[in-house]
Amino acid sequence: MATKGPRLLFADDKGVVYDHPRLLAAARSGDDQFRPEERPAPLPEGGALCMLPGRRPVGVDPATGETVTLPEVTVEGRTFAPHAVGATLPPGWTRALLPAGVRAPTRAPVLPQWAYTAAGLGPRGPVVWALHTDKRTHWDPRGRSGADLRRRVERRLAKSHNPIYQQLSRCALEWSCFTAQNTFLQRDEGAIPSSSACNASCLGCLSDQPAGRPPASHQRILRPPTAEEMAEVAAEHLAKASGRVMISFGQGCEGEPLLRWKEIAKAIRLARGQTSAGSINVNTNGSSPRALAALCDAGLDACRISLNSASEDLYTAYYKPHGYVLGEVIASMRVAKDKGAYLALNLLTFPGVTDRQGEVERLCRLVAEVGVDQVQTRPLAIDPDLYMDLARGRGAPGRAVGIRGLIEALQAARPGLVVGNFARARGERGTAKAAS
Ligand code: SF4
Repeated sequence: MATKGPRLLFADDKGVVYDHPRLLAAARSGDDQFRPEERPAPLPEGGALCMLPGRRPVGVDPATGETVTLPEVTVEGRTFAPHAVGATLPPGWTRALLPAGVRAPTRAPVLPQWAYTAAGLGPRGPVVWALHTDKRTHWDPRGRSGADLRRRVERRLAKSHNPIYQQLSRCALEWSCFTAQNTFLQRDEGAIPSSSACNASCLGCLSDQPAGRPPASHQRILRPPTAEEMAEVAAEHLAKASGRVMISFGQGCEGEPLLRWKEIAKAIRLARGQTSAGSINVNTNGSSPRALAALCDAGLDACRISLNSASEDLYTAYYKPHGYVLGEVIASMRVAKDKGAYLALNLLTFPGVTDRQGEVERLCRLVAEVGVDQVQTRPLAIDPDLYMDLARGRGAPGRAVGIRGLIEALQAARPGLVVGNFARARGERGTAKAAS
């Protein structure tokens, strides 16, 4: 019986996208390519189709249900080697499957840092295999850029020579970072980049990439700010912002904030000396339980610890930690809970690795034992082949249960666990309970 489903998309060298007259869309999980069973979602507003240069498209033959690689195609009499097409997602969505494709032997560059998502053409337009995991609208891209934002940035820079505002002005206007924009719009979660150094070398680091790889998507802050400079930005935002008020140390444009715990602790005390409003959070790799304890003692009330796996070998291969191990990251999680801070995990998800049965079991055990409050599902923004070359044969084995299966397992392991993409402000923090 003929198979039905969204049609295969492919692109030419100029990035013009076509749909195949016969083949259906395939998808990928780890090294497996197949016809996706899950129902796709319409491509959400703020998402976009993207080309994967040098990856030949893989589709599904509706007559046999088998996957087929497309090395060449003829469109309106022009024959060319097609490129696979995927999609990028707006905030609030989690990728469920990767785009299918086969790396061509030549002219297949390392892909820049995007969370490539499986896509196809449905009866009403482009579709994606992704989950809408956070429906709150305050991260909606609409109404964020434009004249008003630019005016507020200029007004702030005229009023203050604080180097943090200088850095954030580029983040807000050039790299469209929402937390940086929030700092100028005085709403919700604001940003305080604090560290120019890091004690890890993540394969997918957003602010530092080795030569020969696509450039990092953000330029790292060059001079670390003083405690007083950080306190100025913190107090201003906490006291005057509206909405889900929070400030976060640890941004995409910096290294590891815990390396500057003394200055950050002083900044927190100075800011709390001026206002008790809002929440103070740190996004961190969790490398130092002692440093995190000091921040909590200074007044930090939330932290988000980044993780790609609860397996030592897979964690170490991705983060390449200098002078710390996964055990200390887990100890930091326990410190946060012992100190009463709201604990979120920034779980870097990758279909076919993070959702392997064995990996899911280890993550569920960790979330339940430590008492994690929230898991932020963060599709790992990286060339899928680059990550698979690292993850193949590492971590716990098992068949992939799907990203939806991963989320359901985590919530079963820790009833009340919040699974979403965005930080929770003080008034939004439910209390997850231990599994019965
Ligand atoms: S911990 Fe953060 S800043 Fe450090 S290498 Fe990893 S992604 Fe980059």
